[in-house]
Amino acid sequence: MARITDVAEVDWTSAHPKREWFEVRQLDQDVYLIAEPGHVNNFLIVGSERAVLLDTGLGVANIRSVAEGLAGKPVSVINSHYHFDHTGGNRLFDDIAIHRLGAQQLAQAAPEGLASGYMAYTRNLIDAWAGYKALDDTYFHLVSGDTLIRPLPAGFHPENYEIVPSQATRLLDDGDVVDLGDRSLRVLHTPGHSPDSICLVDDARGLLFGGDTLNTGPIYAQLEDSDVEAFALSTERLVTDLRHSVQRIFVCHFMRVDNGAELMQEIAEGFQRIVNGDVTYRDNRDCLDYPVREACFEHHSVFVAGATPGPRV
Ligand SMILES: [Zn+2]
Ligand SMILES: [Zn+2]
Repeated sequence: MARITDVAEVDWTSAHPKREWFEVRQLDQDVYLIAEPGHVNNFLIVGSERAVLLDTGLGVANIRSVAEGLAGKPVSVINSHYHFDHTGGNRLFDDIAIHRLGAQQLAQAAPEGLASGYMAYTRNLIDAWAGYKALDDTYFHLVSGDTLIRPLPAGFHPENYEIVPSQATRLLDDGDVVDLGDRSLRVLHTPGHSPDSICLVDDARGLLFGGDTLNTGPIYAQLEDSDVEAFALSTERLVTDLRHSVQRIFVCHFMRVDNGAELMQEIAEGFQRIVNGDVTYRDNRDCLDYPVREACFEHHSVFVAGATPGPRV
């Protein structure tokens, strides 16, 4: 993927102008996916008293109005970690919780070039989409309406995209229980992708929200503050804690949002192999075009640092 830094000339209308920016789908009782397809998946969990939005996405459209429209009550935010693609809409909300190790970075200015770099990635995504869709229409028929890549919203100007810092109003720790009335969410601290990464689990309904700890494409373990050994411990801990209770795993990136519990086993085994040196790597590049090494597994892969440490994503 070529690095493209000039985003001014992008034809942002070339994808699917008829789709709304957010793809909304009910996943379970009072659980909704609010996706930005090709970018990030956010989740709304509604209880009898309160509702929680797990992550606020890129911040290019008003996720608060979508979430509150679905919930019919005030919505509090929990961030799975501090990265901009999960916290971009935080500025729309009053009540924001994050693991205590992420609060400082959430409130800091983003690294130089991150916003423009991500918009360059977005341009590449939209450019690549037309050819991908044409092949799919002819041969594969895997794409469905809810996975269509769409142009950035009308009125949004990519050259003006900014990553806006936000202030946490509540700090989370491992084992905290977030009470929504008739349901509750348990916080699991799962460092590895970033020091502050968490998963949320709805024990009663057997649902695990994996943040960026579990994903079905490349799992990013190559970032400056990623830690592969911590990742191995965190994912092993998920298996130990949850293998008898979790039935479905919802992930924050890529199109295969809804997965069976076996995904966490596969990912934990993958990290164990990486720690043991029992994998082969291929060279690849991450979404900001930094070189990485990639270990590939059946339903996911893992990026580890290549020649140059990557910035935070
Ligand atoms: Zn992340
Ligand atoms: Zn992410």
